[in-house]
Amino acid sequence: MIRWLLIPCLCALVIPSALHAQAKKRQPNIIFIMADDHANAAIGAYKSWLGPVVKTPNLDKLARQGIRFTNSMVTNSICTPSRAAILTGQYSHKNGVYTLADQLDKNRQHLAHFLRQLGYQTAMIGKWHLGIDPTGFDYWNILPGQGVYINPRLRAMGMTKKGLKEYKGQYSTDVITDLSLEWLKKRDKKKPFMLFCHFKAPHRPWDPAPRFKDLYKGVMIPEPETLQDDYKGRAKQVGNIKMRIGQDFSKRDLQMDIPKDKSAEELRKWAYQHYLKRYLSCIAAVDENVGRLMAYLDAEGLTEDTIVIYTSDQGFFLGEHGWYDKRLMYEPCLTTPLIIRWPGQTKPGTVNDDMILNIDHAPTFLDIAGAAAKKEMQGKSYKSILQGKTPPGWRQSIYYRYWMHLDGSHNVPAHYGVRTRRHTLIHYYGKHLDMKGARKMNLMPEWELFDRQKDPRQIRNVYADPTYAATVRELRVELDRLRREFGDER
Ligand code: CA
Repeated sequence: MIRWLLIPCLCALVIPSALHAQAKKRQPNIIFIMADDHANAAIGAYKSWLGPVVKTPNLDKLARQGIRFTNSMVTNSICTPSRAAILTGQYSHKNGVYTLADQLDKNRQHLAHFLRQLGYQTAMIGKWHLGIDPTGFDYWNILPGQGVYINPRLRAMGMTKKGLKEYKGQYSTDVITDLSLEWLKKRDKKKPFMLFCHFKAPHRPWDPAPRFKDLYKGVMIPEPETLQDDYKGRAKQVGNIKMRIGQDFSKRDLQMDIPKDKSAEELRKWAYQHYLKRYLSCIAAVDENVGRLMAYLDAEGLTEDTIVIYTSDQGFFLGEHGWYDKRLMYEPCLTTPLIIRWPGQTKPGTVNDDMILNIDHAPTFLDIAGAAAKKEMQGKSYKSILQGKTPPGWRQSIYYRYWMHLDGSHNVPAHYGVRTRRHTLIHYYGKHLDMKGARKMNLMPEWELFDRQKDPRQIRNVYADPTYAATVRELRVELDRLRREFGDER
């Protein structure tokens, strides 16, 4: 009892300037580590069919120390648009970055500007891929476009477009980490920081670091259940997609000739082994470098004051449905890894299934930095979820839209849809419809509905099944509602 009575007295003794300093101290540092095309299934903590072979000790450790989200998703499953959604907190139709060919508006303010206004030092290192030079950062050093894995060349702030620096004999994931550590070492230690550390890996063409070249030599990689999917009953446009393992690979993808004497089924099995070995070997270097960043935080005594986020710009097909790549509103590429460690706030080892979107990061980081979300942002802050409390009325459905209609290399149709906890309803509307107007051929509109509770692998399209008629009606109402809410009614 005496102890309780003492607390108000002690509080009264704290002078205002000390309170101010304390409030300042509460702005944590933020490290946003984003891989490119890293699927959940390729992280040990996510416990997929790859469990026996995937090696991610540092990411698994981060998950044990923090929170792991199982329903983190993107609003448009492709590199450039996802990166723009993260910085702006907006859907593609609001930020103007619909496709790989679009650029972020160089005059607009985004997350990096806002954090700088809140007193943060900001840096962007690695893969940027937004067309323009980075804006809003105190420092940047980026790969040109996609960049390359081996002997990467990067361009630092202040260098001309041609003034790239080559890192001879080095590997992109290592270089991006080295540059991140260098920046951390020379930062102004009086200010909080926000570091965007963006790896190129494990993006195609999946070149491993020489030290991991033989990591999976002689290992048999388990196959996903749907490797030999025949797309029966799915939308016709889906069956025509060119993301098939083996059949749609180039020699460059596997660094070896694609055999011509195998049956379609054999070719898929053969190519899957080579593809996954290359992909997982790239992940090994990502994991190792996440470990280096965490070791630096520990050595500098920064761990307690730093929130670490690990995610990817989208997920990826690792043989599910016989595919590689992304783009579709199917689980493997709609969902992304999201692991967050926030010491003192997030309960270690938490697994959370709330639906998080990539447009939520910007409002969340502003919230963590002590500011409200900007009114143009369409995402929501998940800060209180990190602290163990899901806000009442948190979303129970998400809206998704992919705009690149029948893109030459992959032939994926444009589509939008709604995903709830149980169902995914997708509309392939058959047209090219961005701000530049219709330019590509029209197809017959088609729909797909998956009941993921009964069909988690998404192989049974039940849109036309009469027992789902009421579900279809409800989901179409919800889809219309979401399209109105987000201002996307074209
Ligand atoms: Ca990507």
